[in-house]
Amino acid sequence: MPELPKYVLYLIPFFAMCIVIAIYLFKQKKLSVAAQSTWQEVVASGLTEPPSLHPLIDPAICVGAASCAAACPEQAIGIIGNKGTFVNPSVCIGHGACAAACPTGAIRLVFGTEKRGIDIPFVKPSFETNIEGLFIAGELGGMGLIRKAVEQGKQAIANIKKRHVAGTDYDVIIVGAGPAGISATLGAQEARLRYLTIEQEDAIGGTALHYPRQKIVMTAPMNLPQIGKIKLSEISKEALIKLWEEVAQKTGIKINFNERMDSLRHENGKFIVSTPKGQYTAGSVLLSVGRRGTPRKLDVPGEELAKVCYRLIDPSQYQGNHALVVGGGDSALESALALAAEPGTTVTLAHRSEVFTGAKPKNRERIKAAEQSGRIKVLMKTKVTQVTSNRVKLDHNGQPMEIPNDIVIVCAGGTLPIPLLKEIGVRVETRYGT
Ligand SMILES: Cc1cc2nc3c(=O)[nH]c(=O)nc-3n(C[C@H](O)[C@H](O)[C@H](O)COP(=O)(O)OP(=O)(O)OC[C@H]3O[C@@H](n4cnc5c(N)ncnc54)[C@H](O)[C@@H]3O)c2cc1C
Repeated sequence: MPELPKYVLYLIPFFAMCIVIAIYLFKQKKLSVAAQSTWQEVVASGLTEPPSLHPLIDPAICVGAASCAAACPEQAIGIIGNKGTFVNPSVCIGHGACAAACPTGAIRLVFGTEKRGIDIPFVKPSFETNIEGLFIAGELGGMGLIRKAVEQGKQAIANIKKRHVAGTDYDVIIVGAGPAGISATLGAQEARLRYLTIEQEDAIGGTALHYPRQKIVMTAPMNLPQIGKIKLSEISKEALIKLWEEVAQKTGIKINFNERMDSLRHENGKFIVSTPKGQYTAGSVLLSVGRRGTPRKLDVPGEELAKVCYRLIDPSQYQGNHALVVGGGDSALESALALAAEPGTTVTLAHRSEVFTGAKPKNRERIKAAEQSGRIKVLMKTKVTQVTSNRVKLDHNGQPMEIPNDIVIVCAGGTLPIPLLKEIGVRVETRYGT
C-alpha cells in the first residue's frame, strides 16, 4: 500500500474540527429556527408579557451556551442568533432555573417590564412592612419560589414572636395556606403563639392546587418548623399537595378553610381582620397570600348560589350537566375543554371580549375545533347578568339571552390585595423590569 503524504495526517484533526463545528452550527441553526417560530406565535397571540418574576438576559454577557434553555422545563427560553432569548414570556413561572444554570451570570430575575409595571410591597429584611406588626412573606413580597416562601414564612414568625400586644384575640393572624402560610403556621404553633390561619380555598397548598395535573414541580430541600429538612428536588403536583396534607395531619396545625380575608384595618396598634365568617383582632398579621389573588367575581344576582365556583376540580362530577364557563384565558378554555370531554355534559363558554387574547394558540385552536364539532357553544361579547337555580341570564352582544344551567365555573382572574395594602399605608413600589 502506498504511503500517505505526511501533510494528510496533519489534515485529519483539521477535518474532524470542521465536522464538529458544522454539527454545532447546524444544531444552533435548528434551535434558532424553533425559537424564532415560537416567538412569532407568541407575538401573533399577543402573549408577550410575563406574569410575574422572570429572567432578564444580558446579551453582552450571554455566550450562547444554551444551558438556560435546557434548564427551563416550560421552554420559555430559546436560542436566537447564538444568544439566550426570552421567547415565551407568558409560560414563565419565575423559578429561576435558567439563572442558576447560566455559566456566565448573564441572567437576572426581575419583576415587571417596561410596558407592564408590577406592584411589590416594601418589606424589611425582617419581613415587616413599613406598618409595625404587618408582615409579608412569600410571593406577594416579590419572591416566587416554593422553597423561598417556606423560608420566609418561618423567618417572619421568628420575628413576630418577639412582639407582644395585649388585649387581642390572637398574637398573629396568618392569611393564606400556601408554602409561606403553612411554614408560618407550623412556626407559630411551635412557638406557642395564639394564631389563626385563614385560607379562602377548601384545601392546603396554595398556588400548587392550580398547577396543571401531574406537573413536575422543581424545588430544593426545605426546612420546615417542627418537621425539619425535607429533601426534595422534583416532585409531582399531586405528591406535593399530599406532602402538605401529611404535614398538617402530623402536626395538627389548624387552618380555617373557606374563609377569605375581606378587609384589614389597623387601629390603636391592633389589626382587625374581617372575613364573611367573623371579625378578629391580632397584634400582628402575616400576609402570605401569594400573587394569584382572590378570584374575580361576576357581581351579579345569584352569584352566592352553591353552583357558582371559581375553580374546576373534578370535571367528571358534572357529567350530564349544563355547564357555563366564564372567562377568556387559558384556565377558562381548559376548563371548558375538560368539561366537554365528559359524556352528556353540555358546555357553553362565555367571554366578554371579541377574542381570546389571553389564551395560548393551542388552546384557542382546541376550542375552535370543539365549537366546530358542536361540543362547546362559544358566546363572545357576552356577560352574565343573573344566575338562578336552573338557568343563567346573559347579555349576548347587547341582546338578552337565557340558557339552562346546573353549574357555573368563573375563571375571570384574580384581584391582589394591593389597594387594601395602600389604603392602610403600606409602601408599594411599581417595578418595571427591576
Ligand atoms: C403554573 C405554576 C408552576 C409553578 N412551578 C413552580 C415550581 O416548579 N417550583 C417552584 O419553586 N415554584 C413554582 N411556582 C411558583 C410557586 O407556586 C409560588 O412561588 C409559591 O406557591 C408561592 O407561595 P406563597 O405561599 O407565597 O403563595 P401561594 O402558594 O400563592 O399561596 C397563597 C394562598 O393564599 C390564599 N389567599 C389569597 N388571598 C386570600 C385571602 N384574601 N384570604 C384568605 N386566603 C387567601 C390563596 O388561596 C393561596 O392558597 C409555580 C407557579 C405557577 C403558577
